[in-house]
Amino acid sequence: MNRLRNLPAQVDLLIVGGGITGAGIFREAARAGVSVLLVEARDYASGTSSWSSKLVHGGLRYLKSGDWRLTAESVRERQRLLREAPDLVEPLEFLMPLYRGIKPGMTTMRLGLWLYDRFSRGGTRSGALSAADSRAALSGLREQDLSGAVHYQDARTDDCRLVWRLIAQGLRDGGRALNYVRAEQLLSAEGRTCGVALQDADSGASREIAARLVIDAAGVWAGSLPGQPPGAPRLRPLRGSHLVFPAPRLPLAQAVGWLHPRDRRPVFAYPWQGATLLGTTDLDHGDDLWNPRMSRAEADYLLEAVDWLLPQAGLSVGDALSSYAGVRPVVDDGHGDPSAVSRESALWAAPGYVGVTGGKLTTFRVTARQALQAAAKQLPSLRLAPDAAPLFDGFSAEPSPGQAPDASLLPARAGEQVRHLDDLLLRRCRAGLTLSRGGEALIAPALAALGWETEHAAREAARYREYWHRQHDPTALV
Ligand SMILES: Cc1cc2nc3c(=O)[nH]c(=O)nc-3n(C[C@H](O)[C@H](O)[C@H](O)COP(=O)(O)OP(=O)(O)OC[C@H]3O[C@@H](n4cnc5c(N)ncnc54)[C@H](O)[C@@H]3O)c2cc1C
Repeated sequence: MNRLRNLPAQVDLLIVGGGITGAGIFREAARAGVSVLLVEARDYASGTSSWSSKLVHGGLRYLKSGDWRLTAESVRERQRLLREAPDLVEPLEFLMPLYRGIKPGMTTMRLGLWLYDRFSRGGTRSGALSAADSRAALSGLREQDLSGAVHYQDARTDDCRLVWRLIAQGLRDGGRALNYVRAEQLLSAEGRTCGVALQDADSGASREIAARLVIDAAGVWAGSLPGQPPGAPRLRPLRGSHLVFPAPRLPLAQAVGWLHPRDRRPVFAYPWQGATLLGTTDLDHGDDLWNPRMSRAEADYLLEAVDWLLPQAGLSVGDALSSYAGVRPVVDDGHGDPSAVSRESALWAAPGYVGVTGGKLTTFRVTARQALQAAAKQLPSLRLAPDAAPLFDGFSAEPSPGQAPDASLLPARAGEQVRHLDDLLLRRCRAGLTLSRGGEALIAPALAALGWETEHAAREAARYREYWHRQHDPTALV
């Protein structure tokens, strides 16, 4: 079926990219008095936005680099999401054990956390534990040189559900959004971007759509479309990877954060969707941007961190349910150390065009509004809703991000623009990451919920198994 045929010949605003940035822009634009179309080359959130650490966090570590503005903004957005989407974003208590001889020590941490709490305006309260209480809070904790621990609050989410909620809200408000439709080229006339040539990945059909303004929100791909106006910043794609363990193999009552013994980078583990998530790494990614994979060396790095903190855990990569990797769209600011590169978003504009990239999942709303403010300079009919306007209206609550996926969810999610089995099993729900063998047990119920004819269903099942093995099978890491 050619889905492009039903599109209008012209829209006011055309957004390229259906990750958290494009989805956030779409949500705001759909209530801003303009006609809006979003196109996503593959599935929504399938770029970087489904492979994040799933933390809606204030960015405690940005305090260390003196980036107080980014921390204050992130804390504010975290508190707002906790209020406005309590089913999708829920509080997560972190424990951070501290060790003699390893900085930061207790005094520095408590000072940083005092500030962190202040930014939340009473929304959170951090504290400190003695060494004995720390051992009681986390059994098996490394004892040598343990001086105590601090605890503080951040939040966890399901990044894909957040993206989908934004898309669904924009659709409700009259926007149009299509997944598996790629922007092939920017069109221009008289030095001004005036539309986009689109191609539907499934039917192969092509069509040009005129647009009064194009927003390029294509994450690590932003600024690279043929026909692109000049001005895009140079990006430095940085890969981060995670391992997911069955909760009984790495049982945690709360999140735990600590510094890696090798390079003192922060790492963490926390309960997520009935499993335990362990992350993350941060290294230059020179390979295929579309299909990033965790390397065996990254897995060893994360396991080494757990061995150090929980010496009796005895985890191996074979215990993991899945692995996944994502590529951070960060702007190259010349720093050598990947973890020191700024996580601020970047915005650039040309006639008929606005580009936006970088930023974090947590601050998507701020990034979206900044992009639309830049867009409104060229599209005066675009009237942004007041900053205080709630993000969502009229959705029934979803299962919490802490809860394991279950088959009863599948029929409702099958109706959410699912075009391939991995859309349903890896993104509309996360069974492919948190259940054994890529959620093999849910493949048959998922296909039943999708109602595909036998041959199509068999093709999709084979495609899914091959894809999962290649991208997420922890026993296949190289
Ligand atoms: C390992 C890791 C951990 C992270 N953890 C956190 C965290 O815990 N908290 C946090 O706040 N942030 C986190 N982040 C950052 C956050 O995930 C990213 O900043 C964010 O997801 C980027 O979203 P985006 O929409 O800009 O990019 P993407 O999600 O990549 O979206 C861009 C989309 O554009 C599409 N696209 C590309 N080219 C075209 C085209 N020609 N036509 C149509 N579509 C196109 C792609 O398919 C893609 O889906 C993390 C990032 C990584 C990698």
